[in-house]
Amino acid sequence: MKYKYDKKVTAVNTKHLYSAEEINRIWHENKNNPVIKHPEKGWISPWELRQMHEGKPCPICGKIMVYGEKYRTNCKRDAWLSFPKYNNDIPVVGDYYYHPQYATIDHIINKARCPELMFEYRNLRVICMACNLEKGDSNIEDLERNLEETIEEAETVLKKWQPL
Ligand SMILES: [Zn+2]
Repeated sequence: MKYKYDKKVTAVNTKHLYSAEEINRIWHENKNNPVIKHPEKGWISPWELRQMHEGKPCPICGKIMVYGEKYRTNCKRDAWLSFPKYNNDIPVVGDYYYHPQYATIDHIINKARCPELMFEYRNLRVICMACNLEKGDSNIEDLERNLEETIEEAETVLKKWQPL
């Protein structure tokens, strides 16, 4: 059965998703649906969130991000002629070649790990495509953060149990 958008795509039903394939499908099928609650703009779609960051610096590399049809094309030749190269290549996602600074959405906590935060505004940040590809699905950042938290927690507990 094809998943249909309904207004209740929120923490309530996304937390019951387990398969990575299903999580990705729901993320992609909701690109144009108002599923993100922006603190000022109200309900917006993931594409609208990306668009809002056009002309703003990428929080990772600091380069100005771009958005819109001008910055993506399904013609490889056009892409090679007009877009700067990223690692001597042009980012390709699906059928499109993208400008390396095209605005994309990154999940701070991976959506496969925590599907209930998939559309949570605080878990999303807009970064450029080159940085997003660099980050990949490796989650190294995520793991490093967790490691730091675990060490901190362990230290707190150990301090508590030190002999008086
Ligand atoms: Zn970047």
